[in-house]
Amino acid sequence: MTNKLRDLAKDASTRSHSPYSKAKVGSAVETDDGSIFQGCNIENSSFGGTVCAERVAIWKAVSEGHKKLKRIYVYTDPGWPPCGMCLQVMTEFAQLDLEITFGDKAGNEKTKKLGELLTQAFTPEHLK
Ligand code: ZN
Repeated sequence: MTNKLRDLAKDASTRSHSPYSKAKVGSAVETDDGSIFQGCNIENSSFGGTVCAERVAIWKAVSEGHKKLKRIYVYTDPGWPPCGMCLQVMTEFAQLDLEITFGDKAGNEKTKKLGELLTQAFTPEHLK
């Protein structure tokens, strides 16, 4: 499944709207029922309106009624991991054992658990 997610994330990166950073990021998220949603980063001239590829994919999933994430793949040329804001958004829709793989153009990959990347996650449990 990771290969399929990688291919879809790489494909999504080709649709990146990144005229300012020139960083083309793609993501693919698999939900608990096996559905897959793609996202690319979408930049905005006001910068604050910019959204990362991971959040685009997650919001597409959630807006279609899929609120439980199973794994996520992030593709960039240099193999960047998700940013802190995206990790925080993931905690809303996944357990801390969510599998996050980030890969680069050369085919190198790293897979980490959400809880490894965001060690002191603020989760919905804190609000109960
Ligand atoms: Zn991000």
